[in-house]
Amino acid sequence: MKVVQNLVPTNKYSIKCPYPMDAEFIVVHNTANDAPAANEVAYMIRNNNSVSFHYAIDDKEIVQGIPENRNAFHAGDGGNGKGNRKGLSVEICYSKSGGQRFIQAEKLAAKFIASKLKEKNWGIDKVKKHQDFSGKYCPHRTLDMGWQRFLNMIKTELNSLNKPKGGNNMANNNTPSTWAKEAWEWAKKEGIMDGNRPKDNMTREEFATVIHRLYKSGKLR
Ligand SMILES: [Zn+2]
Repeated sequence: MKVVQNLVPTNKYSIKCPYPMDAEFIVVHNTANDAPAANEVAYMIRNNNSVSFHYAIDDKEIVQGIPENRNAFHAGDGGNGKGNRKGLSVEICYSKSGGQRFIQAEKLAAKFIASKLKEKNWGIDKVKKHQDFSGKYCPHRTLDMGWQRFLNMIKTELNSLNKPKGGNNMANNNTPSTWAKEAWEWAKKEGIMDGNRPKDNMTREEFATVIHRLYKSGKLR
């Protein structure tokens, strides 16, 4: 996925991301603000508070402010807290007022988180909320709208990333499922279907061709 980088300069590492990190999970936040992702990151870099995050996501883009191999201060669980030392933080923008741009930001965040899970070979159990670490009601609007609903959005994205692509070059695409084997072999033997790509989708014209062949074969009468 396309990620815009505006990384904190190394002379601010001591304030924003003092520790090397090998991330173990993702921590989801809402900004409780109405600024776009680029502004959230620029502001985070500009100020001198020990508050930081890896990614901010709005309805249009993903902006990275801290490298993934450094920690960030976002989880409210202190300098040695698991959230702050092992969590890859994702801020979803526009949560203060919500509306369509927040809905879209959440969608992009779900896509991004799914691609991260796939990249790191992590399951959905690696997606945590800020609330898990400090009790703060964050990501507030995502929680209001339903945490499980957001996890399901991520799962849907993850499933579509993991789905094998259609096409006759896929080895496992050329073997029918056990439950379909008998019907598949029959359709092939009778010349109703050509016996290729058993797991591919069927188009309307292919369907018409199949029933036409079946009709002409006389097997319906
Ligand atoms: Zn938070």
